[in-house]
Amino acid sequence: MSADLKKAAVTGYPVAQSRSPLVHGYWLKKHGIEGDYSKLEVSPDTAENFFRHFGASGLVGANVTVPHKEIAAAACDQLDDAAKTMGAANTLWLDNAGKLCGANTDGLGFLGNLDQLAPGWDKSSGKALVLGAGGAARAVVWALLSRNFTAVYIINRTYEKAQKIADEFGSKTIASEWDNLGKLLGEVDLLVNTTSLGMTGKSPLQIDLSPLSKSALVTDIVYVPLQTDLLKQAAARGNPTVDGLGMLLHQAVPGFEKWFGVRPEVDDELRNLILKDLGVDA
Ligand code: NAP
Repeated sequence: MSADLKKAAVTGYPVAQSRSPLVHGYWLKKHGIEGDYSKLEVSPDTAENFFRHFGASGLVGANVTVPHKEIAAAACDQLDDAAKTMGAANTLWLDNAGKLCGANTDGLGFLGNLDQLAPGWDKSSGKALVLGAGGAARAVVWALLSRNFTAVYIINRTYEKAQKIADEFGSKTIASEWDNLGKLLGEVDLLVNTTSLGMTGKSPLQIDLSPLSKSALVTDIVYVPLQTDLLKQAAARGNPTVDGLGMLLHQAVPGFEKWFGVRPEVDDELRNLILKDLGVDA
């Protein structure tokens, strides 16, 4: 290995489950770049020190996964708008002066996926309904507001968490109770599931889509299974649908570009590679 070899890694605790090395490995090979992307487990008791002294790691940058996204953001000298808003960073790089920069690319990943698989989806930028109020929901709300949705409703099992996001993101973001689901479904142009319901091994997401306009786009950020029951139900009644795998792949694009200098594509070969690794049918 040459001394100039650029190295990046996914950091977290644990990291064994991460598909990021497969994604970045695919792009490194495709672009003929001599670089390295590995898994680096950072234990919670060493995380603060690790990110504060990131320059000593020998890495040009990193992805950050659970539970270190907040600690990483706090250690950065500079954050992009999404990371600042969310107080969490999933992508880090060192600038020319050695300063640690952080971004949160989950929202960009969500947008990149819909832009690729449902072009023009945000043209009318109407109203959206987001189910769930966890970390991923915050990224999705940020993303939808960046595309000028006029109202983003959030429904969550724990209402207070939806209300907290609404308070943080401003007046276009409105928390609501599950009891209002039917009424809100009748008003929106986009439905997004960000809960873990419907994921293999979790409880199903059981909702009656009948009030939803048939032109409304339905997307699920759960990608195991790829075609969740929500997406199947929506497709069966004629709604356009987009699965969640592309969000995972598109969120990786900005990091690769920062570290290795090439903006990579999310193509079918990459999708199929990850699906095969996940053991999920396309
Ligand atoms: P999280 O912070 O743990 O949030 C989980 C959400 O699911 C919360 O809103 C939670 O509601 C809700 N939930 C969990 N069990 C529930 C139940 N039995 N009934 C009703 N609501 C329930 O997780 P996250 O990071 O936001 O991730 C959520 C999902 O998105 C996961 O399946 C994850 O794999 C997926 N994801 C996908 C991508 C991608 O790239 N496609 C990226 C990030 C996450 P409470 O607040 O009431 O607990």
